[in-house]
Amino acid sequence: MKKIAVLTSGGDAPGMNAAIRAVVRNGLHKGWEVYGVRLGYAGLISGNIIPLGAREVGGIIQRGGTVLGSARCVEFKTEAGRAKALRSLRQFDIEALIVIGGNGSQTGAYELSKMGFPIVGVASTIDNDLYGSEMTIGVDTALNISLEALDRLKITASSHQRAFLLEVMGRECGYLALMTGIAGGAESIIIPEVPLDPEDVVDHIHKAYEKGKAHAIIVVAEGAKYNATKLAAYFDEHHERIGFDLRVTILGHIQRGGNPSAFDRILASRLGAGAVDQLEKGEAGVLMGLLHGEVSPTSLEEVVNNKKKIDLRLFELANILD
Ligand code: ADP
Repeated sequence: MKKIAVLTSGGDAPGMNAAIRAVVRNGLHKGWEVYGVRLGYAGLISGNIIPLGAREVGGIIQRGGTVLGSARCVEFKTEAGRAKALRSLRQFDIEALIVIGGNGSQTGAYELSKMGFPIVGVASTIDNDLYGSEMTIGVDTALNISLEALDRLKITASSHQRAFLLEVMGRECGYLALMTGIAGGAESIIIPEVPLDPEDVVDHIHKAYEKGKAHAIIVVAEGAKYNATKLAAYFDEHHERIGFDLRVTILGHIQRGGNPSAFDRILASRLGAGAVDQLEKGEAGVLMGLLHGEVSPTSLEEVVNNKKKIDLRLFELANILD
């Protein structure tokens, strides 16, 4: 192996830069040339490819986002788009590609690898919904941001005897909401994996009010059937039974920004370097993730054909502790 390329794709996640840095520095350490593809698969199709030296990735480990840029690219979903991407790679004599990203990006990586190109994925998404990695790059930082928001809301909620609906990201996955709720001691947690009757939430909050609690915090995953907006509309209709005055906070992309936590920087450094080691072994077509504390490969085929589950025992724990 002499020349490899790296790209970041899909939703940006804090720690992607640390992963890029690790790919570049471990590649150089092996005496290889490393290229960066700008703007994800869109840059691969248009040939937006630049050489990356050790200095190009200096001073980025502590920065959120991705210095290579990211994009969502519809053309890459077509075989013709991916054929163009392959032409760009061959034009630069690139022999293997490392794809840092989440579910969609790894599906794209799998599709390209089926066309015969060596690819190794690096598990990175704040949603933590990627099969093949217990924790993905960015989720720890995003969790700490939503936890800080919850802590702050608790203070103002107690002062005014209010209930707050706090909506956090996670797409179809309730991981961020569940962990935010447990770590922040929320009264209620609403996630896509556990269907609920909004009437039960009304009862639950009412009980908290009757118990004399100074506030009620309900953490809602954006992917839940009843997201914060729908729940707020329902609560409005049953206002008199809730007791608390209700406010809604939707965190949105605030969770994506910010400097990566120590955990995410270390995870990104390990997975990025691990992806390069994997290419050296000549074993491509896999995603590098964290399994039982170890940097481990899982075939991209297995990754795209399986849905990661969350540990519902933690949901039960949250119900005991609220
Ligand atoms: P994430 O990686 O954060 O889940 P997306 O779901 O937006 O982000 O996917 C990122 C990009 O991956 C898409 O814009 C597209 O270029 C590529 N991609 C997603 N799904 C596929 C697919 N089925 N086939 C080929 N490429 C895909």
